[in-house]
Amino acid sequence: MNTLTNLTIDKALDGLKNKEFTSVELTQAHIDMMEKHNNLYAYITETPEIALKQAKASDEKRGTGNEIGILEGIPLAIKDLFCTYDVQTTASSRILEGFKPKYESTVTTNLFNNGAVMLGKTNMDEFAMGSSTTTSYYGNTINPWRRKDDLNQDLVPGGSSGGSASAVSAQLCMGATGTDTGGSIRQPASFCGISGIKPTYGRCSRWGVIAFASSLDQPGCFARSVKDNALILQAMAGHDPKDSTSANKPVPNFAAAIDGNIKGKTIGVPKEYRVDGMPEEILKLWEQGIEWLHDAGAKTVEVSLPHTHYALATYYIIAPAECSSNLARYDGVRYGPRADESDLLDMYEITRAQGFGDEVKRRIMIGTYVLSSGYYDAYYIKAQKVRRLILQDFLKAFETCDALITPTAPSAAFAIGENENDPIKMYLNDVFTVPASLAGLPGMSLPAGVDPQGLPLGLQVIGRPWDEETVFKVAGVIENLANFTARPQILL
Ligand code: GLN
Repeated sequence: MNTLTNLTIDKALDGLKNKEFTSVELTQAHIDMMEKHNNLYAYITETPEIALKQAKASDEKRGTGNEIGILEGIPLAIKDLFCTYDVQTTASSRILEGFKPKYESTVTTNLFNNGAVMLGKTNMDEFAMGSSTTTSYYGNTINPWRRKDDLNQDLVPGGSSGGSASAVSAQLCMGATGTDTGGSIRQPASFCGISGIKPTYGRCSRWGVIAFASSLDQPGCFARSVKDNALILQAMAGHDPKDSTSANKPVPNFAAAIDGNIKGKTIGVPKEYRVDGMPEEILKLWEQGIEWLHDAGAKTVEVSLPHTHYALATYYIIAPAECSSNLARYDGVRYGPRADESDLLDMYEITRAQGFGDEVKRRIMIGTYVLSSGYYDAYYIKAQKVRRLILQDFLKAFETCDALITPTAPSAAFAIGENENDPIKMYLNDVFTVPASLAGLPGMSLPAGVDPQGLPLGLQVIGRPWDEETVFKVAGVIENLANFTARPQILL
């Protein structure tokens, strides 16, 4: 096993500080791993030259004794939804093939200013629409984990940020960015046995992040420990005047919140999350999680979120509505490939017909339908009202508790192709993650156990708006007690 790629960010920062190794060595070790495991297709674009250049600059900076960044010299992967200056940014769509932005997203700018090194751009579901990373134009990403009984079967890494999750899990980077609109960080984190956080909507700037559903999209991150997530989020977050929904709030020291002390805290257990047909092992893990919190001195109470039942339907009206509007800009004029047609309308139509995949087209059609006159009130306005009720449910629950504990996803990783013919079944993956997204709340998934096939299962901690600190604190306690040490087969 490569000892440098096995480190957490926290430990690697110590090693860099104590001159046990350089950022160039740390970065090269990850580039070697990327090469070795390129059959996971975690990256769409690899940028080893940029990485080594940044790593060298970082080593020089450390040498001068000047002030250094939170992630000084740490190699990360970037989801291919973040615009990166002069580096191809595709959103996994054919319609953006070859697009090299002339600007850098605020989140990646913040990361680079904090010393992060970029190894490449990771694969994802097209325009972040999906739960499996099987809708990418550039091919499927493979989960590094396998079922005990069927070591030859490729499993999905979850989605939409499946490339980032697979890369972190397989040690092809130390951490990665993701975006979460309805679960795209938490669900793949759960499927790949790592932790990931979606902060409060407005905590991280969306500027330079390719838009899917603007009122839901939120950048966040993945890593192999709760503390590493705290460090990455700290480096990414902050107010940005270029995003009108970015909050002008100070960013707390997230890592400092992980102090192991949850005595006196009350954790809510939402009874509506006990859905029919939930696998026994997930129910058991949830109960185990509640017990761990008890053991650590917290009180747990049952809470009710009565509108949970409507969350998926609400999400699958609002998200497609916003996507149909956001994706109107891809017309062959401004970005990517253009169909060779002399008639302007034909050019638009054929460019879009060739450029978008089936799932994106399905969503544009649903979105256009629910926004059309006559249906707007019945679907879109109604969904907005239900969304408000879902938020109110959470706020009421938070009158009696400080955070919530739930499972992250209703299953472990499934096989490639398994839910493919049934979009509704695929949408059910988001049943536990979508409600917090609609309410704009912070949510974190962390690995807490395995199913009978040895596949990782995650627990989710949901917090009050702007209270990522409690989320990290509670997650830190669970991480300690769960002591999740299983690793994907390819690393053994
Ligand atoms: N799986 C959900 C969807 O398909 C969520 C995606 C996301 O969070 N970007 O829309």
